[in-house]
Amino acid sequence: MRKRIIAGNWKMNMDHIEGSSLASLILEGIGEKELPCEVVVIPPFTTLPAVAEVFAGSKVDTGAQDLWYEDAGAFTGEISGSMISRLGCRYVLVGHSERRHILGEGSGILALKLRAALRAGLTPIYCVGEAAEERESGNAEDVVEKQVREVLEGLGPEEISRTVVAYEPVWAIGTGKTATPEDASGMHSFIRGLIAGIFDKEAAGRILILYGGSVKPGNASELLGCGDIDGALVGGASLDAGQFLGIIFS
Ligand code: PEP
Repeated sequence: MRKRIIAGNWKMNMDHIEGSSLASLILEGIGEKELPCEVVVIPPFTTLPAVAEVFAGSKVDTGAQDLWYEDAGAFTGEISGSMISRLGCRYVLVGHSERRHILGEGSGILALKLRAALRAGLTPIYCVGEAAEERESGNAEDVVEKQVREVLEGLGPEEISRTVVAYEPVWAIGTGKTATPEDASGMHSFIRGLIAGIFDKEAAGRILILYGGSVKPGNASELLGCGDIDGALVGGASLDAGQFLGIIFS
């Protein structure tokens, strides 16, 4: 039985003061309740230390939104995996669609970043997903296959066992449009099949594949009820404690 992860990507929202308050509200909302899944909060870099402090000793994990692919050195403005892990973070996003499309990150750099995350002992959440025109032209699976192969091929068995994939159709991110449970779970089982082909059945059975794209309390349980969907990467709704908690406990 695979575990479930609900991860909240705060994107470029919440400074360290606002972020501490939101983290405290999330903790208060969880209270003494048993968490039905692993919960990860992914704030901006400058907010991360404050949020990690609020969640220290709790059941909520933290993650970063990006990392650089070298471990240290003359890379002005960049943050290494070890800097992130030393804050107590366990996760890092790699290849979020906003970094692919706004900042032009492609498979070459993403493969290096994913390996840097693993080297630092972090769990990379590797984001893949097709754009609207790619889905409309019937190329969604080809696009996702390329993204998966170009970055994950060549990982060792131990490395793939520490990697999480997030399927986030670009047209569903921040738009209020959600993939139907059938379309989402179809793509998730396609990705799982790819992992079986590249690695083996054991790796495919074990890998967590999260869905992202306008997940809200109202649609979470239907999406999360699909067999191959192991959790959610949540953007907008993770900025509101009530909505995020609604998804966690859906
Ligand atoms: C995201 O940022 O990864 C995301 C899925 O955003 P939203 O939930 O707002 O669509």
